[in-house]
Amino acid sequence: MSVLDRIVDQLYSCNKCGFCQATCPSYQESKSEFMNARGRLRLILAVAEGELQATHEFVEMINTCLQCRACGAACPSGVGPDRLILAAREYLARTKGLPFVKKMAVSRVLPSCTLMGLSVGAFRWAKTFFLRPGNPLSKVRGVDLSRIPVASRPFNKRVPEVNPGAEGGKNGRVAFFHGCFVNHFQPEIGEATVRVLQSLGYDVIVPKNQHCCGLPSMSYGEAEAARSLVRHNLELFKELDVSAVVTSCATCGSGLKHDYTYLLQEDEEYLPAAEKFSAQVFDISEFLFRRIEDLSEIVGSLEATVTYHDPCHLLRSQAISEEPRKLLEAVPGLEFREMREADHCCGAAGIFQIFYPEISKPLTERKVSNIIKTGAETVASGCPGCMVRINNGLSLQGAEVEVVHPVQLLDRALARATAYLPDRLTGKRLA
Ligand code: SF4
Ligand code: SF4
Repeated sequence: MSVLDRIVDQLYSCNKCGFCQATCPSYQESKSEFMNARGRLRLILAVAEGELQATHEFVEMINTCLQCRACGAACPSGVGPDRLILAAREYLARTKGLPFVKKMAVSRVLPSCTLMGLSVGAFRWAKTFFLRPGNPLSKVRGVDLSRIPVASRPFNKRVPEVNPGAEGGKNGRVAFFHGCFVNHFQPEIGEATVRVLQSLGYDVIVPKNQHCCGLPSMSYGEAEAARSLVRHNLELFKELDVSAVVTSCATCGSGLKHDYTYLLQEDEEYLPAAEKFSAQVFDISEFLFRRIEDLSEIVGSLEATVTYHDPCHLLRSQAISEEPRKLLEAVPGLEFREMREADHCCGAAGIFQIFYPEISKPLTERKVSNIIKTGAETVASGCPGCMVRINNGLSLQGAEVEVVHPVQLLDRALARATAYLPDRLTGKRLA
């Protein structure tokens, strides 16, 4: 049975109400019914039933979905349109194959720590000698590559495997899933996450051999590559005696919570481990919100005006929006300013922004404009990918707004007050 045959019943369960249309960013930019969940599902059904060939136009309609999951959240019938679009991508990857660059990225580079490290090293070299700010060659399809941060050393080489919590780790042990973006591009987010958790009395374990969460491979239809990453991570994390797995990447969190069981639904050997693992996963804002009273007691004051952008993979996939706002508001001196359309997609969607700038760019410009209108000096967001895209958009408009993860602001506030800061940075390796 083909991937599409398996979803025909679900495709028929769409009652064509169109509730998904109002929230779909690719529809809003294109005004094309076929770039909306309802239209895409109709096209997929036509291909599944042999009425339509999987033409180039069909491939484009499927690939212009940002996988923002707004349709899944809006659909009153529980059709899960975003999942069905993913199934169509898996069908296309199997029957037609992916373009060379995408194929290499999601089925060779991301699954391999060595190739990932080499690719990031090459990018770091290019940034040092060639992709300098102001060089027109650094601008590729609306993305200024010179503005993409890259770590001088990966996060997992900066921190020990065991990072002891304050007061003897009185609140137990948690594991940190850093993901590729934090590891290679924004290690400061990982360091802030570990320090905040340590300050709250958690021993933080950073498993050194963790691989990509698998979500990028899954998103481009390379489900087998994704499954192999998932199995590797499950084997690694099952050895740890921890009460929770925390991540500060919205995309990783979405994948770890919801996609591991989806990908392994027919794998009797690994499905129970996936269910157990996914139930232990928390986004950092969600995790810290449960300790907001304790956190309020130990943070210092931070004079800052801050607004917040809701990442799709945090808001729609994980229903987390109140938590980061409340955490920020708990910092004395911090003035929170809500922006208009905070829940609107920023246009990043991984490498989508390079392939479809005509959809991505207007979304980013709209987001940046809403940020600037708040007059805030800082914008926070719980997704490292959104942060890079927003920073890019702000710098292209010459706006001086700092872009940070909420946990970085909490870390700064803690540093203002915590006498044992040096202790929070120490740790020891596992024997
Ligand atoms: S996932 Fe987002 S972009 Fe894709 S169809 Fe649904 S709402 Fe539209
Ligand atoms: S996918 Fe859901 S919201 Fe969209 S038209 Fe079908 S039933 Fe309605």
